[in-house]
Amino acid sequence: MKTMTCRQLGGPCDLEHRGESADDVINAQDRHLKEAEKAGDASHQEAREAMKGRWRRPKKSLDWYRDTKQAFAELPEGGPRGAAGQPDESENPMKTIDIPGGVVHELPADLRDALLANTTALDIWTGLTPLARNEFICWVEDAKQQQTRERRIRRTQEELEEGKRRPCCWVGCKHRTPGTGKSRQFQPQFNLVTVD
Ligand SMILES: [Zn+2]
Ligand SMILES: [Zn+2]
Repeated sequence: MKTMTCRQLGGPCDLEHRGESADDVINAQDRHLKEAEKAGDASHQEAREAMKGRWRRPKKSLDWYRDTKQAFAELPEGGPRGAAGQPDESENPMKTIDIPGGVVHELPADLRDALLANTTALDIWTGLTPLARNEFICWVEDAKQQQTRERRIRRTQEELEEGKRRPCCWVGCKHRTPGTGKSRQFQPQFNLVTVD
């Protein structure tokens, strides 16, 4: 059993797919992309289109399959963060706690780790509505630079502890409305004032 993430398969998030073969994880990613599309998640649209294209033109996509299969073959058993049965996971039961994500955004690994390390924030997080969690995740995911992202993750914990239920000064997730276009580049660019 090995693990490949959405990102390793050309997608934008860190959702992990487990499987015995490269085909397993590719099929899991295909399902994941379909679900994201259904949910109106624009961030996955590009990867979804690419995957659709591969099913339509399998010959042209042989390179991608070969590379993916090769990458899968080179992965260690279990995957990057340890699979069931690996000692590191049984020693760390915190890692197996299921922390809820948002409406269209899944909880990214770095935010998840930050919440796991902060029980106060974690408590409040799990008590939030999925809609509220979604806003925080969207805000974090929106950061273009790693530095900004880390700062927003810190701010998320602080704002939760301060009792805020929405990220401060965030315009709101725009990925929840279906049919907002293929990619975010085509969205009108508002100059949002966000506090990092
Ligand atoms: Zn994904
Ligand atoms: Zn969003």
